[in-house]
Amino acid sequence: MFKCMKCKKMIKQLDEVFVRCPYCGNRVLFKERPPIAKEVKTD
Ligand SMILES: [Zn+2]
Repeated sequence: MFKCMKCKKMIKQLDEVFVRCPYCGNRVLFKERPPIAKEVKTD
């Protein structure tokens, strides 16, 4: 998963040949792990 540095949108699918944000055309993207929700119990 990638995150656009410019418009801050998450990009799930990305063409490896044509790496750019499909929303704004920005080519600077962050590689980001998908958020994993952890259940935390606080008693
Ligand atoms: Zn963008």
